[in-house]
Amino acid sequence: MSPFRRTPRGREPVTRYCGYVRQQRPQGQWFTSETGQRWWFDPGALSLDFAYTGAMPPQPESWSTPVDLGAWLAERFEEVDAAVTERDLTDARALRSALAAAFLRRSLGEEPEPDDVDVINLFAATPDIPPALAGGRRQAGRTRARPSQALSTLAREAIVRLDDEHRARIRACEADDCGYVFYDESRSANRRWCSMQRCGNRAKVRKHRALKQSAA
Ligand SMILES: [Zn+2]
Repeated sequence: MSPFRRTPRGREPVTRYCGYVRQQRPQGQWFTSETGQRWWFDPGALSLDFAYTGAMPPQPESWSTPVDLGAWLAERFEEVDAAVTERDLTDARALRSALAAAFLRRSLGEEPEPDDVDVINLFAATPDIPPALAGGRRQAGRTRARPSQALSTLAREAIVRLDDEHRARIRACEADDCGYVFYDESRSANRRWCSMQRCGNRAKVRKHRALKQSAA
């Protein structure tokens, strides 16, 4: 069973518009905290999920072999061929580092480094996974997409998110001891926490305690 359909809030994956065709891709992943607790982090962008597989602190590296990358991609891009090569892994890590650095800088209110921008643009310039309308009778193009096409799709998504217009939506969790970076997808643009279960509730508890203390 896909882990994405069982989020703590019981939410289905978000339906988003990628280009001109509606595509549903699972977003968010389970992490384990320092105290061994599992928590769900949806950073609001698939490209950030991608960066959080090992290029964004404090998350450790989650891909040791091409098979790990293949599994990660297959869970999100059902059309991608799971046969991932060492070369794909090297490419994925290069894109991941550039994305992580760019999102981190944006979260600090800074411009991404030109070198990272170049890497992201390079991946985005290659063929991505083409959109397809359901209901036809024939297969157009390849039956399976190459892993490199998924990398291009991720780079293109990041370009939209990292664009100047959306820069204020890329922020870090407000908890002092956290720092997880997210893209605020909310309509009101008022997301404050990496996750309500983790930092949001802790902040609520602290506020409640402080109120009680001042009342007493
Ligand atoms: Zn947090």
